[in-house]
Amino acid sequence: MNTPNTYFYHAGEMRGDEQVILFHKGEVLLRDDAFLWPSSVLEELHKDWYPLLLVGVFAQRRVVALNLPSDWTQDDFEVARASPRQLLFERNLEDFTAVGRANQLINWYDHHRFCGKCGAPTTPHGNDRALVCTSCDGHFYPRINPCVIVLVTKGDEFLLALHKKGRGSYYSCLAGFMEVGETPEETVQREVLEEVGLNVGNIRYVKSQSWPFPSQLMLGFFADYQGGEIEVDGVEIEKARWYKAEDLPQIPSAGISVAGQLIELFLQSKQ
Ligand SMILES: [Zn+2]
Repeated sequence: MNTPNTYFYHAGEMRGDEQVILFHKGEVLLRDDAFLWPSSVLEELHKDWYPLLLVGVFAQRRVVALNLPSDWTQDDFEVARASPRQLLFERNLEDFTAVGRANQLINWYDHHRFCGKCGAPTTPHGNDRALVCTSCDGHFYPRINPCVIVLVTKGDEFLLALHKKGRGSYYSCLAGFMEVGETPEETVQREVLEEVGLNVGNIRYVKSQSWPFPSQLMLGFFADYQGGEIEVDGVEIEKARWYKAEDLPQIPSAGISVAGQLIELFLQSKQ
């Protein structure tokens, strides 16, 4: 079987044992509630689609992703749809990893079809997971955006906030993107001061998580309260206050979100 490089495939180059994740207009296509399609689906789609993006190997099966063009319609192809976020909340961690990585790669490809420097079209790199400008040879690799997420604690208490752009009424940790030139610890100090007006220290890295909406790397920290009064910025944070274990609001699940895991780890440490 002809496979010209490792990361970009024509539909006709599939070996037959791959699984395919289909995207259309930002949603994942499902059949019988499954989002991993057998590679025979590419025959049902009647075209040598390109490129299929290699997502990775999950449970010893190679998974590829295909983003169907937004004007794609096909009367004889009945499907259900789900957003990648819906799948996050409904599926297990392995599924989430596959869909999350596919979502990041689809977004990356979609945003780099033309060179940001000279505007010429890009083309897949021969060996790497990269797109190359056909005019100036600029290389574009998938970009990851680092963010910090922090649980600020004060003795037995911890700070949770209602985020303005959050989903529903979940109270969660503070979070923010790293600025150019910052260390993650500096981001923690800056974000906590900006969002709720508090000074923090003794910043300890705990764990990380890929958050594929579309390409964040969440770096999770604990930080100790060191001074100041809570004053929410009103822009990103609507409300924030100190909580205790016996007085929890609605918090994110620890199953998948690093915010929920930080809260759970802190509560366990106080038992
Ligand atoms: Zn260029």
